[in-house]
Amino acid sequence: DKFREGLTKTRDNFTTKMNDLVARYRTVDEDFFEELEEILFEADVGFETIVKLIDELKMEVRRQNIKDTKDIRGVISKKLVEIYQGDDDEENALLQLQEDELTVILFVGVNGVGKTTTIGKLAHQFKEDGKKVMLAAGDTFRAGAIEQLEVWGQRVGVDVIKHGEGADPAAVMYDAVQSAKAKKADILICDTAGRLQNKVNLMKELEKVKKVIERELPGAPQEVLLALDATTGQNALTQAKIFKEATNVTGIVLTKLDGTAKGGIVLAIKQELGIPVKFVGLGEKMDDLQPFDAEKYVYGLFA
Ligand code: GDP
Repeated sequence: DKFREGLTKTRDNFTTKMNDLVARYRTVDEDFFEELEEILFEADVGFETIVKLIDELKMEVRRQNIKDTKDIRGVISKKLVEIYQGDDDEENALLQLQEDELTVILFVGVNGVGKTTTIGKLAHQFKEDGKKVMLAAGDTFRAGAIEQLEVWGQRVGVDVIKHGEGADPAAVMYDAVQSAKAKKADILICDTAGRLQNKVNLMKELEKVKKVIERELPGAPQEVLLALDATTGQNALTQAKIFKEATNVTGIVLTKLDGTAKGGIVLAIKQELGIPVKFVGLGEKMDDLQPFDAEKYVYGLFA
């Protein structure tokens, strides 16, 4: 099970600490909750989520009259799933793919987070599903970005629409949408520049790119996915806030979850930003991208 495997580091970290906690405190008391808070905090679960969880746990412990710490694990997982899911309906968590029409997915995110890799992985998945996929090389700024996307295009076997380095990304998008329409592609995945040094420029560029896509294909982009690197912890959260201001992010792809023991960041993102995590990256290979499933995730950590 790829999902489980990819969470090994986080699970080992959680499980070891939880086992230790339960062994040391046999009865549920204030000190137990304090240490539990600490464990969650160290796993990047996020302040708001922790406060909410601990409140609800205390209520539940009282309601069910739970005394023994070993009986509390199940309650923790159940509450975490509830907190993550909030009052979302299931459908919200899936990608909004058009039935017999072109769907455009715009990828945003800072350089180095794994955006290009994720685009390649996603293109591969769609292709496996029998879809006609095209890529747009919208990062005309970073040296090598276009070539890197082309490498993925060749690996996966999909066309890449590109201009030269330094070209206007909006012009690339225009061509890409026209070309995808003409070739009757099902899905066009667009890369964008990820330099955060100049926030205002980045926002302007994203806005412009998005406008061109909207103009050339009403209703598009159907998804704006933000790639965030799980290993950067609270930095990822800061980045997400910036991109959320710049554009309407519809979902998050949390990359490199396999590389961190602090997988709790998933919960923090959802709670603090209200944006669903749609996929998680669990390795560098083509098939190391998995749809995010809150239940599987939380139970995987605490089971
Ligand atoms: P970009 O600058 O955002 O386009 O980032 P890249 O796609 O070039 O990825 C940066 C590095 O992260 C590369 O070495 C990737 O192989 C690696 N990477 C991307 N996603 C994952 C992941 O889910 N897990 C691991 N372990 N590495 C990843």
